[in-house]
Amino acid sequence: MLTANHLQYAYAEAGHMQVVLQDINLQVTQGERVALVGSSGSGKSTLLNLLGGIDKPSAGDIHLAGQTFSQLTEPALTLFRRQHIGFIYQQFNLIPTLTVAENILLPLELLELDPDTQQQRLNYWLSAIQLPKRAQAFPDQLSGGEQQRVAIARALIHQPALVLADEPTGNLDAKTGALVLDLLFELSRAQQQSLLVVTHSQVVAERADRVLLLQDGCLQPVTQSLAW
Ligand code: ADP
Ligand code: MG
Repeated sequence: MLTANHLQYAYAEAGHMQVVLQDINLQVTQGERVALVGSSGSGKSTLLNLLGGIDKPSAGDIHLAGQTFSQLTEPALTLFRRQHIGFIYQQFNLIPTLTVAENILLPLELLELDPDTQQQRLNYWLSAIQLPKRAQAFPDQLSGGEQQRVAIARALIHQPALVLADEPTGNLDAKTGALVLDLLFELSRAQQQSLLVVTHSQVVAERADRVLLLQDGCLQPVTQSLAW
């Protein structure tokens, strides 16, 4: 379970502070899929970076998997992030010089699994994302939808407690995006992960268990029928 209490965040801009997040309170239970919507510049990516331990809030607490982020040292937080959080970005962010298999296996480096277990996990994830024959391909040999499926496998293979996706279908056509999203929702639910997806897509929001709107630095629930 992910919990955030009274998060605040401000960017320092040319001598003055731009407060982006005022008072963020959030709970995402295990296996729950939450969509986060809000206009461009409302702070969605900023919030994801805080929840993912990439940036530190100006005030407030984040709790995940029995830990409080503010109580971890910088190296401990980095390690915690690599073990317990999976990220998916709009631009896929695969490493171009690594094969599909090498990209997917990256998060396992920390876990020191034996080669057989690694291979089994890899095979499982290649099938799960419906690319069983593309292990040796390089990212630029794949379509956008295929690259994003590889990114999903990479985000989930180490079984993180929390999966954060920042506009994961933003670079895909509607049909491909819907397929990629179904996979992400299904696979993260199967592992009982907390999933937070930033999106502009009504389709994405409709598949989520809950939709939250970020506006004026605060979160509020959105009913599915309401346009944002
Ligand atoms: P969203 O993802 O909802 O579009 P962001 O979190 O990217 O919004 O940005 C929220 C606000 O913070 C915007 O006004 C943006 O200009 C500002 N901002 C984002 N990143 C930085 C930064 N590194 N330095 C200064 N301001 C930033
Ligand atoms: Mg953003």
